[in-house]
Amino acid sequence: MHDRLFIPGPVEVRPELLQAIARPQVGHRTQAYMDVHAATIPMLKKILYTEQEVMFFTCSATGVMEGSIRNLCQKKVLNTVNGAFSKRWFKIAGFNGIPADALEVPMGQAVRPEAVDKALATGQYDVFCAVFNETSTGVRAPLEEYAEVLKKYPDVMFCVDAVSAMAGDKIETDKLGLDVCLAGTQKCWGLPTGLCVTMISNKAMKRAEQAKAPGYYVNFVDAKKSNDKHQTPHTPGIPILFGLHAQCEHILNVEGLDNRWKRHLDMQKLTHEWVKKAGFELFPEKGYESVTLSCIKKPEGFDFKTLNGQLSKRHHCIISNGYGDIKEQTFRIAHMADTTVSEMKTLFGWIDAILAEMKVPA
Ligand SMILES: *Cc1c(COP(=O)(O)O)cnc(C)c1O
Repeated sequence: MHDRLFIPGPVEVRPELLQAIARPQVGHRTQAYMDVHAATIPMLKKILYTEQEVMFFTCSATGVMEGSIRNLCQKKVLNTVNGAFSKRWFKIAGFNGIPADALEVPMGQAVRPEAVDKALATGQYDVFCAVFNETSTGVRAPLEEYAEVLKKYPDVMFCVDAVSAMAGDKIETDKLGLDVCLAGTQKCWGLPTGLCVTMISNKAMKRAEQAKAPGYYVNFVDAKKSNDKHQTPHTPGIPILFGLHAQCEHILNVEGLDNRWKRHLDMQKLTHEWVKKAGFELFPEKGYESVTLSCIKKPEGFDFKTLNGQLSKRHHCIISNGYGDIKEQTFRIAHMADTTVSEMKTLFGWIDAILAEMKVPA
């Protein structure tokens, strides 16, 4: 029996999706492939509220984090940094020889729009990178407020890592004026890892045409040329695409978009109530809590390892340790993808029973 994953990626995958993935392969230049590709893109557009370009790359999300700045930056990148993943995006710029500055705040906090405005007003930057849902700290960035600021800077590309939020927390990409919005399939999409779903604005496509060294693998211009023919430049993750197609149909036609957003908000509410009742405290500053995962402070002397070990042994499920610099100070519970409110209730019941035996927290 496998451990059901209540960790913020990879997540539990519904058996129906595993079935959709485990089907005979088709050649990626055949009509059968092009049919599933062509059927999936418009559904992705609906889920991302966009009429612009949507495509997918066969790599984990980090590949497109790198690709975005390579395709779009000609001057300098401004990165928000408030956790491990936003720090990663900033570091990626350095690894590619792309100039970048970090707008950094302590972990648990969100970078404020005023700070973004002040930095962009210097005119040094042509790309702004923000992580919407900082999976290491459970902080949700004020995307709508950033969007207001970015309206003043039409030449700055607004790139958003929505890895642990897309398909769980509603993101109206066109309305927000996003130029890139990316997420791997192993988080709120509820699939195995393998594809990175990416929205790219028409403005960003134009910018990419001028790129001097966009890179070969994640190349927006090449990818669009292929996408127009319902193909990809190289062999895609065909099994996951079958899964993504099935999941899009489920999201749009079985669950319904609004129900999916509401279910995630309901799971967040339940989790916050449980955190309080159990005597814990959330790590993020108030008002900036993630909808899809909760990062919780470890009380003094809290034996997380025993708790998680017992969850696995008795109930075949696990939650997650902290991540990055705050690994030892926090633990995390994901409430994303296809997890239900009632599954979360059951999980909290199990945790309460184990904690009662451990007598922690007091
Ligand atoms: C998981 C995660 C990533 C990294 O995704 P990979 O698919 O492992 O490359 C990046 N950003 C955020 C916010 C994440 O949660």
